[in-house]
Amino acid sequence: MTLFRLEGRRALVTGASKGIGLAAAQQLIEQGAEVTVAARHEDTLRPAAEAIGARWVVADVSTLEGVQAAVAAAGDVDILVSNAGGPPPSLPSAVTEEAWAQGIQTTFMSTVRLASATLPGMRERGWGRIIAITSLAVGRPALNLPVSNALRAGVTNHLRTLALEVAADGVTCNTVAPGYTATERLQKLHSDPAEAQKLQVRIPARRFGEPGEVAAAITFLATNEAAYITGQEILVDGGWSI
Ligand code: NAD
Repeated sequence: MTLFRLEGRRALVTGASKGIGLAAAQQLIEQGAEVTVAARHEDTLRPAAEAIGARWVVADVSTLEGVQAAVAAAGDVDILVSNAGGPPPSLPSAVTEEAWAQGIQTTFMSTVRLASATLPGMRERGWGRIIAITSLAVGRPALNLPVSNALRAGVTNHLRTLALEVAADGVTCNTVAPGYTATERLQKLHSDPAEAQKLQVRIPARRFGEPGEVAAAITFLATNEAAYITGQEILVDGGWSI
């Protein structure tokens, strides 16, 4: 028997023109799923999608219209990977009304809406996977990422609550929380090589994670073999949270 295969499953991965989202899309395809990737800019999304053999749709998941466009393009979604860019850094006392409003749409409502739009079909078919990408910040808030700290905790508990409702319908709802992972976002947040080096020394694994290492947890949760895992957070953080 071949384990962890995804033939016949249809996936939608948002925020997938690069980084963790793109790595997840690639692994889902390698396991046999048919994947649609979504992001805001065609110029980066299209070549990324073509390189891995994904279908693609330009969509901004911070809006209801963007979510609807992504879900419509993907068809009957069996596997949802809800991902988008993280909120910009700031001190907690300095977050503006506008930054909170934008964060709520991009980081929280995107997952709420994507899950709402894909869940009815999953329940009808008796099989579904809802996976949101959050952050190590859920368990251990980072001083300079207050919007992320607050809203990802909301995403985590929303999916745990949803898991209670739909567990008996064959649908699981989980989050994958990356630690420090070598993507463009990390490079922007830690652009000084000396600071980046100091940070890596504090990680028990003594290195940043690779996008593919986060993608592996996402892909596992998408499989039949993970059917009895729901309402959980999987941290992929090189031991940071220990
Ligand atoms: P990234 O910035 O490299 O990639 C983000 C992707 O999301 C890109 O494809 C971007 O175009 C897309 N995107 C951004 N806003 C969007 C929107 N509104 N609609 C559709 N697509 C949108 O980020 P990453 O490092 O791959 O991280 C993915 C997620 O994981 C982010 O939310 C990030 O905050 C979180 N995270 C990352 C790390 C890390 O160290 N890289 C750590 C913890 C959490």
